[in-house]
Amino acid sequence: MSSQNKIAIVTGGSRGIGKDIVLNLAKNGLDIVFTYNSQKEAADEVVNQIEQLGQRGIALKLDVSDAASFDGFIKTLAAALQSQLNAHRFDFLINNAGFIHYAEFETLTEEQFTEMENVHLKGPFFLTQKLLPQINRFGGIVNVSSGLTRFATPGFAAYAAFKGAMETLTKYQAQELGKRNIRVNVIAPGAIETDIMGGAVRDNVEMNKYLASQTALGRVGLPEDIGGVVAFLCSDAAGWVNAQRIEISGGSNL
Ligand code: NDP
Repeated sequence: MSSQNKIAIVTGGSRGIGKDIVLNLAKNGLDIVFTYNSQKEAADEVVNQIEQLGQRGIALKLDVSDAASFDGFIKTLAAALQSQLNAHRFDFLINNAGFIHYAEFETLTEEQFTEMENVHLKGPFFLTQKLLPQINRFGGIVNVSSGLTRFATPGFAAYAAFKGAMETLTKYQAQELGKRNIRVNVIAPGAIETDIMGGAVRDNVEMNKYLASQTALGRVGLPEDIGGVVAFLCSDAAGWVNAQRIEISGGSNL
């Protein structure tokens, strides 16, 4: 017997963009497993919010930058799916978790480079590969990139390069997973007011004003601008949307 509701797995669902994705998927009637890295209390609060929406939510700890931990995570996930959702498989995977080391090309260290490579490229690559056998036919994957792959802003060279790699990977995944009827798309948010980079986009008034001035709709983005688009991509209405990069930036740097 399997769960009647579709199930999504969202990495980094405890805060920011990932949290809004989780809540919008729950509003669409999906049950959710999401991961957090360090903030268990925030994750527990998100579980409460999912339950208030009438869905089931499970928070699991996962360091997406530690590929060696994925086999253990998958065992934990399988046990949670079985015991709490009566399921062995799931439908959608959202690769969202991440952080940024802000530094210009000349100064970024090798350690910072590797940390971002692990969380933004190696982690999503191998997590998706290892989870693939559990993704149902007619399911999907949404990768999270950034507007910074289209326009160059000083301080994000390595970060944007890894996000660009995820956009290329999205195309290859869509091509190879089409035979399983799994769709793969990538969203590219513009600057969004979250905790990332110490909350700079939200809390640095000068930066916020500048970013708003570079955006056709005249403000920076909020987490609430993002989740509904991902929920659409994880719905039947988007059944013919595949291998697309969808920028969600209010028209930034046009
Ligand atoms: P936040 O800092 O608000 O949230 C980050 C989330 O990722 C948290 O849930 C956090 O878990 C989790 N996380 C961080 N590091 C790891 C890790 N090593 N392993 C597992 N989980 C981790 O960030 P945003 O919501 O802003 O960012 C989400 C995604 O969106 C990222 O991929 C980011 O690059 C991308 N993005 C963000 C933009 C922005 O302007 N905010 C613009 C474009 C893309 P915990 O709560 O436990 O720490």
